[in-house]
Amino acid sequence: MGWTVPSRALVVALMLAPSIVAPAAGQVPTQQPPCVPATGNLQSLAASLDRVWGTRTTLLVCDGSRVPFGSQAKPGVVYFVPDQARALGFDSLGVVYIIAHEWGHQVQFQRQRIVNAFSFSQQREFNADCLAGYFIGAKLPAAPDTERRLMAAGAAIGDDRLLHDARLSGPFGNVIDQYMAPNPHGNAKGRAYFVQMGYRDGRKRDIVSCAIITPNLEDVAASADGRSGRLAKAQADAQRLASAVSIYSAHMGTLPPTLAALTLPVMNAKGQAAGPFLPGLPAPPAGWTPYSYRQAPGGRFTVTAEGDGTQVSVP
Ligand SMILES: [Zn+2]
Repeated sequence: MGWTVPSRALVVALMLAPSIVAPAAGQVPTQQPPCVPATGNLQSLAASLDRVWGTRTTLLVCDGSRVPFGSQAKPGVVYFVPDQARALGFDSLGVVYIIAHEWGHQVQFQRQRIVNAFSFSQQREFNADCLAGYFIGAKLPAAPDTERRLMAAGAAIGDDRLLHDARLSGPFGNVIDQYMAPNPHGNAKGRAYFVQMGYRDGRKRDIVSCAIITPNLEDVAASADGRSGRLAKAQADAQRLASAVSIYSAHMGTLPPTLAALTLPVMNAKGQAAGPFLPGLPAPPAGWTPYSYRQAPGGRFTVTAEGDGTQVSVP
């Protein structure tokens, strides 16, 4: 059976992504599946989101008349439905917000390993909103009304607005929504609040506020190109290296000769095998020196790295 290409959906897709390739006039439309890989501006947006978050994701653009779902994320894939964005009255900023929100879920899937780390699914949603706000604040040119428009977009898809249910309009909708709204994303106030929080972090290139609702922040923040994120990653890496040095030395009775020795299996004088103590050596944050290791008298040691005009030194 074949697929048809409704012209209305195509027009919508073109409005939202002017560089999506349309069949030339007079040409019989090719039979397309309901979701096709993004091209042009949307593909550039996807690449930029992957760069910022250190994810690998395919962005598919779906024909709303032929898919039974709205925009959504599965591990490694984001489905964007332009018809849905249009139905919400979203402009180009709203489109970026929807897609960046779905990328927030990719960060959860791919970088934070936190699919199950949040107590409530709504925390994942607020986290995704915060990360979406961060991306927009950090990467998009800002206009004086960008923050307000972004908050309005977040509020427009609050559970209370979508469900016309005033019971969901408490502080953030929070826990009670879990039982009252299907697939709860938080109410208008909550979504506006968290996307604004992320946006303000992004403007400062400092993801510290989103950290409140982001487990394993240092892993994510390092890729978000903020100075504090790089510093947090350097500290976490140095700590991890120092712990591995301690474990090595407890087993071997001597300090490792180099950090690289931590990545190899070893055998101590009693013939007991152990290691590797690290799967590999962590790459330093962008612009930082590699982690260096110095032994000191008395079995002491330091792991250090420098960058962003500062230094971390552990222990
Ligand atoms: Zn979501």
